[in-house]
Amino acid sequence: MMAGAKQKENKPVAKKEKKKSGPKSYKPGKSCPKCGTGVRLAEHKERRSCGKCGYFEKK
Ligand SMILES: [Zn+2]
Repeated sequence: MMAGAKQKENKPVAKKEKKKSGPKSYKPGKSCPKCGTGVRLAEHKERRSCGKCGYFEKK
């Protein structure tokens, strides 16, 4: 039984457009413990490294 079957109205729903980001979506990332926030560690396969001070850590 179709109780209370409503007819769907095709309302033009304003869709929120997703912000188009670059090839890589923004990630907060991890900042360098030596350089402080603002300096993010570069993501590598097995490690993260800082381009400023050379700090790196294994994943
Ligand atoms: Zn650093």
